[in-house]
Amino acid sequence: MKIICIGHNYDNHNNEMAHERPSAPVFFTKPDTAILRNNDPFYIPSFTDECHYETELVIKINRIVKAIDERFAHRCYSEVAVGIDFTARDRQRECVASGLPWEICKAFDKSAPVPNTFIPLAELGGDINALHFALDINGKRVQEGFSGDMIFSPDRLIAYVSQFITLKMGDLIFTGTPAGVGPVKIGDRLVASLEGHTMLDFEVR
Ligand code: MG
Repeated sequence: MKIICIGHNYDNHNNEMAHERPSAPVFFTKPDTAILRNNDPFYIPSFTDECHYETELVIKINRIVKAIDERFAHRCYSEVAVGIDFTARDRQRECVASGLPWEICKAFDKSAPVPNTFIPLAELGGDINALHFALDINGKRVQEGFSGDMIFSPDRLIAYVSQFITLKMGDLIFTGTPAGVGPVKIGDRLVASLEGHTMLDFEVR
């Protein structure tokens, strides 16, 4: 499986990062070795001094998808979750400044915590564009997102990405982070939720 991550998909995050509003979806990938499951602890990599959390709605693809029309993209998924797109922000600034790819700052081992169990979208009301999610660190709310605030909706993202890359059963789409990103430190406890359901609960070491 592979992970497709969307960047710059919320206006409030683009404002906090001084990104321009994209005219088309921005995406990159993480390999399957980026997955962190079982609420295992996240170890801050030695190559960064500024490792940021980004809390994102995650969609699990349930069939082969190639160049699908946006109208039919809803047929490609039935389960969702919340995951963290850990980012070595200092290394990302270097990549961006030099115009180089983002793998070092985004695709490293264990950079994508996801829950073992996803939730059927039907149990959450069935509307992919009406989901609230959040992250608490050490009991304090640091991020809140609403899928309806995305610049490019999940169905639009799947249609766009599948023009370039065939999606397969089990692939995950990280749909971008809202505002409120920030660094983690050793000892932090991260709890992510989706419509009130706890999705992740793990420690930083
Ligand atoms: Mg992200």
